[in-house]
Amino acid sequence: MIPLFFFLFGICIGSFLNVCITRIPEGISVISPGSRCPRCEMPIKPYDNIPVFGWLFLRGKCRNCGLPISPMYPIIEFLTGAIFVLTYYEFGVTFLTLKWLILSCLIITLTVTDLRVRLLPDAVTFPGATLGLLLSFLITIYDPTAGTLYYCAFHRLPPYPGVVFNVLNSVLGLLLGSLLLWGAAAAYKLVRKREGMGFGDVKMMAMVGAFLGPRGAFLTILVGTLLGSIVGLSWIALLYLYGWKRKLAERAARRGLGSVSNLRWAIVSQYQLPLGTFLGVGAMGVVYLVPSLLDLFLR
Ligand SMILES: [Zn+2]
Repeated sequence: MIPLFFFLFGICIGSFLNVCITRIPEGISVISPGSRCPRCEMPIKPYDNIPVFGWLFLRGKCRNCGLPISPMYPIIEFLTGAIFVLTYYEFGVTFLTLKWLILSCLIITLTVTDLRVRLLPDAVTFPGATLGLLLSFLITIYDPTAGTLYYCAFHRLPPYPGVVFNVLNSVLGLLLGSLLLWGAAAAYKLVRKREGMGFGDVKMMAMVGAFLGPRGAFLTILVGTLLGSIVGLSWIALLYLYGWKRKLAERAARRGLGSVSNLRWAIVSQYQLPLGTFLGVGAMGVVYLVPSLLDLFLR
């Protein structure tokens, strides 16, 4: 019964995340008006608005205008439900579960928004970072960094209660996450003479760091950028192979701007990769896979 409850609760929250994903980048309120068909703007009836199942019953078409409704909606709802169940199985009914559920919701919203419109809205990252800091007053961040730094500086065990180090870890995570990414962006700009990433990625990492602490923030950047390099470069190679924007390159070549293949490389290499999406996947990996991997390793 409990996993089922987590799943049903998760798909309902996923339904709200869909609203955030589609409305926040456009600056529309997430509360009113209620759900509408994105094409004919007809309000969706409550019985058609049931997460996942509503879309399946309607076979992905609006009841009023018959035009297709994006499968993104049921996919996000199902994914959120699945992550909620996974969190229950890994962390039980604990405060830690609550914290990871909040973080997953923020990450799903950012990851999908970045993938769709290449934006990481401040309306998500700023409240998210604040929430991460506040939660550190209540829920332990398992990170030895703050304690080790104290010991190195004063050569004795800390006299303060654990909560001080928790909050310190959260602040250190926020600073390390954002500064590392900001440094990488500055270095990239220096070498390539153009912007490699937006400040949205820096703010997103500040949020992730506030939740995970410095060690988790560092791991997230490591996994995220590695994943981004592998998947991103493969994606760019695929775009080139399948003739993405070939016509544009051919037109430019006719005007004498260079050979078609050189121009196509130049266009394809400008393709903007959603770094926030990769960082989001990295953070989820750090939360859900690292504990099990460590467990396996220690055994
Ligand atoms: Zn419609």
